[in-house]
Amino acid sequence: GPPSVLLTRLEGWPTSFPANLTEYRESVLQEMEWTSDLDKHTAEIAPWVWHHQGDADRLQLLAQSADPETSRKAREEMWRLKIMPTLEPRTNASFVVLIRNREMNEFRATMRQLEDRFNHKFHYPYLFLNDEPFTDEFMRTIAASTTSNVTFALIPRDHWSVPEFIDESQALMARHKMAADNIIYGGSLSYRHMCRFNSGFFYKHPLLKDIDWYWRVEPGVEFYCDLDYDPFKYMQDNGKLYSFVITLKELEPTIPSLWDHALAHMLVNNRSSDLMPFFVSPDGGYNLCHFWSNFEIASLNWFRSPAYESFFQSLDRAGGFFMERWGDAPVHSIAAGMLLNHDQVHFFDDIGYKHADFIHCNRGSLADPILKCQCPLAFENFDDNEGSCLPKFKSFKPSLWTTRDTAEAIRMARGRRLFKLA
Ligand code: GDP
Ligand code: MN
Repeated sequence: GPPSVLLTRLEGWPTSFPANLTEYRESVLQEMEWTSDLDKHTAEIAPWVWHHQGDADRLQLLAQSADPETSRKAREEMWRLKIMPTLEPRTNASFVVLIRNREMNEFRATMRQLEDRFNHKFHYPYLFLNDEPFTDEFMRTIAASTTSNVTFALIPRDHWSVPEFIDESQALMARHKMAADNIIYGGSLSYRHMCRFNSGFFYKHPLLKDIDWYWRVEPGVEFYCDLDYDPFKYMQDNGKLYSFVITLKELEPTIPSLWDHALAHMLVNNRSSDLMPFFVSPDGGYNLCHFWSNFEIASLNWFRSPAYESFFQSLDRAGGFFMERWGDAPVHSIAAGMLLNHDQVHFFDDIGYKHADFIHCNRGSLADPILKCQCPLAFENFDDNEGSCLPKFKSFKPSLWTTRDTAEAIRMARGRRLFKLA
């Protein structure tokens, strides 16, 4: 057949592609003994890291060659492939995509839009993560869908398993109960792994160690407008650490005790910020508002900070990822509320976006010749839905929330006998 994309091992591995990749993978998997040591995991997952250097970076490097013939050929090839020179300066950033093999086609559709609307001008790399090995077909098809660099990697087992302090039979009962109550994903263990991974582990993946910024993308999401500037650069230059497009209310039965645990952590650790009032209802409870984390452009360094990590550890120990069904979205959001100031959180109003049935498409931008939005002909903007927290985000008054306010919120919750902690 025609030459397909050549994927190479990232480091220290033969560059030739084993003839029967599936069989080869299975043999490696059987030899593997998982331990709880992250460094060992890093070594163990090395055979699971596949990399493809896209034409964009490769040709641009060659175009800078001192040899005029090499340089000329590279520039000609870029012209032929319609590869736009990278708009400089680029930040140290990557797309991060947690995905299953069966979601390949949904992601191709998403990637097409992301590339056409934005990334063909910037050529940011993609990191694909999976709790199972990616198939040969997945890797080749996805690598062939962009001229950027792509890397496919396995998630360390420790980042996707039930910790030993969770009572598995109690967790199972909790899942049965939530499934019986018709709570969405209530009976799913893999969904809980996903939420916990996105809450406390993705930013610890060894391949993101030296990366500062990430853009989370999910299969099937749509991008409706051009983005003619670098959003990472925007964040970096404007002191932003977290961003969102859609903000909405969480389903209360998925997080019965999340707020109480968050308040307890805030009290003990003496956290204060001026974003917190966005999340607090007048009675000191959680108003359920959160930033929808299927879209995220944010600082990995913020997630890797001791303050975020200790918050995650508190929540993880509390057990709610398994005994309830805490989503990574309210976890990230409450962390932002607790640790960031309001002006470190950015609302990307100019990104036209759809996840599931919810759309954000700035009405004022529909006829904008620069954004070139192509939102569906008749659509409901989620901003106008009563479940949207955007009006609140725009109108709430940032004011410093201190330990005293936290103590007061806990006292009020206790008064209502709603506080679930000892
Ligand atoms: P929803 O947006 O809350 O409905 O959840 P999704 O089904 O979209 O999952 C969120 C993200 O995690 C998506 O990028 C999925 O592809 C990914 N995801 C969910 N469950 C799994 C899983 O078991 N394995 C892997 N590799 N990815 C998953
Ligand atoms: Mn989703």
